[in-house]
Amino acid sequence: MATRSEESGIRLAARHAQTGELLIIGDVPLETLRAYSERGDLRCPECGAALRLKAGDVRQHHFAHVSLAECAVRDAEPESESHRNGKLLLFRYFRQAAESAALEQRIGATGQRADVFIAPHFALEFQQANNSAAQWHERHRLYQAAGVRDVWFLGQVRYTAALSEPLRPISPYDPRPVPRDVFEAAAGAFRVREMERAMLEVFPLLYYLDPSDGLLTILVPRSLHATTLRAYRYRLPLAGCQLRADGLWTPLHPLLAKPT
Ligand SMILES: [Zn+2]
Repeated sequence: MATRSEESGIRLAARHAQTGELLIIGDVPLETLRAYSERGDLRCPECGAALRLKAGDVRQHHFAHVSLAECAVRDAEPESESHRNGKLLLFRYFRQAAESAALEQRIGATGQRADVFIAPHFALEFQQANNSAAQWHERHRLYQAAGVRDVWFLGQVRYTAALSEPLRPISPYDPRPVPRDVFEAAAGAFRVREMERAMLEVFPLLYYLDPSDGLLTILVPRSLHATTLRAYRYRLPLAGCQLRADGLWTPLHPLLAKPT
């Protein structure tokens, strides 16, 4: 088990000391990365200190600082392995249709670090850790100030259906014009924390992403009382979603606009 301080110096991208090439885990053959690592050719893209490859059987492969004390840009919030899996999934999927894409990218004058940046102006965040409402609003505000559209994917671990109100089919008498028979449609009640409530003040939908199977769970809110969100729930693959001018587009969106 890595300690908290080791976790905070982990990178999914390294720079080659001689060529300057940006090397991303999964893009470059493992044997090539091993050779670079053994020759001491890997550098932290942020602070320039030496990195080494960590490629065992159990954890997601990654780069770690040889000496953490050297890293001038340690993260305030250490990331979990599932957080890294989530942001790699977002990076690999959305860069396919993008002119350019970057992992762990510093943005704007404030130097906020986006999990994934997709040109021309999207920051994708895979948010698993808990932030206060104030922290989240501040991050959103900084992105807006930098002219960046932020898209938030909650880790699936944050998705909590309330036990007191089991998921049920959406009634044909339900007054809201939402699709009823697509994408595992269901109605239910969900537990949310203050970060989700902050997001709902700004964005109409909540997205949860499961990095293990690439499925997106979408909550379309009906009502919010304290920590209980009553919502319509849909599930669909991330593959099939797109970034459009106004943010994330999913195959559910046209059905929400024109209900069945
Ligand atoms: Zn560093």
